[in-house]
Amino acid sequence: MISIRIDKLTKRFGAVTALAGLELEIAPGELFFLLGPSGCGKTTLLRSLAGFYTPEEGRIFFDAEEVTSLAPHKRNTGMMFQSYALWPHMSVAENVAFGLHERKIPKAEIAVRVAEALRSVHMETYADRRPQQLSGGQQQRVALARALVIRPRCLLLDEPLSNLDAKLRLEMRTEIRRVCKEFKLTTVYVTHDQKEALSIADRMAILDGGRILQAGSPRQIYKRPTCKTVAGFIGETDFLEGQVLGLDTDATSGETVATVETPLGRFEGVLGAPEKPPALGQTVTLSIRPECWNLSEATARLSSSEKSAHPAGRADKINSLRGRIGGCVYLGEVAQYDFVTEGGRGGSRNALPTTLKVFEKNPRRFIDGSDSG
Ligand code: ATP
Repeated sequence: MISIRIDKLTKRFGAVTALAGLELEIAPGELFFLLGPSGCGKTTLLRSLAGFYTPEEGRIFFDAEEVTSLAPHKRNTGMMFQSYALWPHMSVAENVAFGLHERKIPKAEIAVRVAEALRSVHMETYADRRPQQLSGGQQQRVALARALVIRPRCLLLDEPLSNLDAKLRLEMRTEIRRVCKEFKLTTVYVTHDQKEALSIADRMAILDGGRILQAGSPRQIYKRPTCKTVAGFIGETDFLEGQVLGLDTDATSGETVATVETPLGRFEGVLGAPEKPPALGQTVTLSIRPECWNLSEATARLSSSEKSAHPAGRADKINSLRGRIGGCVYLGEVAQYDFVTEGGRGGSRNALPTTLKVFEKNPRRFIDGSDSG
């Protein structure tokens, strides 16, 4: 298990700055995800870790050893890509053994290590097959065995599951986590799939413009985003702007809760992960996830866990909106509603109606009454 430390890394391609002084630390044995919009620098960062790119500025450390200028084959990283690139003319076992032959490992040891790697991905009975005689998921397992067999110091995965169908992706993502943990491998994983990251990551980072916007556990990133880009990138959300009326500390979690006056009424929200409390009167943006609402006849109200901090008796005045259902999409486990607000409450009655997304689990109630309030 190694730690990875990336210190102010800058990588340019001509006029394009792909990495802009990026800083990141990954703990030993961590399964760490890189996410972000297309072109944000994920692949460039992964390739810099592998040694395929030399950065213009900054340094990379594996534990205490600086590897910034070390050739790829000397870094001993295991890599797996979207296109698993198995040799079609070689058997599964020969494909897995390839990297060991290159490293001049004795034949007897190669046989033992190949068998071990194939066993770890449950492919030992397929050793003599050719890749084209395997399913996509099985080929992906062989590619994983090939990355593991060299006993890498860390594993670098670039969209490893994007060629698989939805069911296989689900199966393989659990499998990848199992293998990483079994081998105690520090793993950096690039994906476009937010659910893949949320479901198996120990921690993740959201990148934009060659920088890290936020790094943290899946829960921190999803529930406590520090900016609109992160909040919007990692899941569905609606934004509401308002002014801070008061600040409080949640007795259970110790987190800071802000009361915010918006044109649609008063809301309470927890601050993003380690963020400085705003000043009273400061304009802030609330991010409200569609699954945080509870629908009841004629109102949508944030669920109790989302308003646990405020005193009893104020529930009707806070985190609560009146409106009607403007549309509904049935998605099986949830229904997605367009909730059209009636407009502002209290001092801001003239606020324009706003459409917010609301998810209902086990949908039963408003599905057919698309305009029933
Ligand atoms: P995607 O999600 O689309 O794969 P990404 O986050 O992996 O994107 P990168 O591939 O790292 O993004 O690219 C970052 C920026 O650097 C982009 O603007 C890209 O066009 C540019 N870039 C990447 N590789 C090269 C290259 N070899 N030559 C020139 N520009 C490059």
